[in-house]
Amino acid sequence: MNLTVIDHPLTRHYLSVLRDETTEAEEFRAAARRLTYTLVLEATSRLPLNKTEVRTPMEPTTGYVLGEVVAVAVLRAGLGMLEAVLDLIPEVHVGFAGVQRNEETAEPEAYYTNLPDLEHASVLILEPMLATGGSLSWAVGQVKAAGARDITALCVVTAPDGVTRMYQDHPDVRIVAAAHDRELNDVFYIVPGLGDMGDRLFGTL
Ligand code: URA
Repeated sequence: MNLTVIDHPLTRHYLSVLRDETTEAEEFRAAARRLTYTLVLEATSRLPLNKTEVRTPMEPTTGYVLGEVVAVAVLRAGLGMLEAVLDLIPEVHVGFAGVQRNEETAEPEAYYTNLPDLEHASVLILEPMLATGGSLSWAVGQVKAAGARDITALCVVTAPDGVTRMYQDHPDVRIVAAAHDRELNDVFYIVPGLGDMGDRLFGTL
């Protein structure tokens, strides 16, 4: 499986804030941003670098410049992870993939796609809740069709069904997550999970 679950005290701490049903939207957004920093560090650990020369006040030495990075936020919950990516990689280009799930079938229904040039970029897909995997698999299909080859998905919580689906549909895509939870319930929510990420981020409960 192409899944890396972050084992870091900060990740666990902020995930617990997100899981807590009493956490209100403002604190929830802050915890989502802080947790995402820890995911980004792992997700970018293999990014290509270009060598350059920098002059310290003492002498010239080798420096490094990041290659091209594109983040694609899966709407709407992926927006809760975007600010952390923009903070850590200010040069990032940003795409959006709008998909909502059909509440009866849990299959994705696309309503909006807007992607920058992806051909030479490392792509980070922001999809916090990997439940059935339908939305992420669809989003990965979109970025691959636009030319992306190096793709990493950043998730807050994954479920076994979603990880299996991704492995079947896109075995080349790396998944970095804060937790891998037990299962989906009968309406395809992750348990224990954290509820509806979009609702909790934006206070639409
Ligand atoms: N989307 C969510 O926001 N939460 C889940 O548990 C599953 C999908």
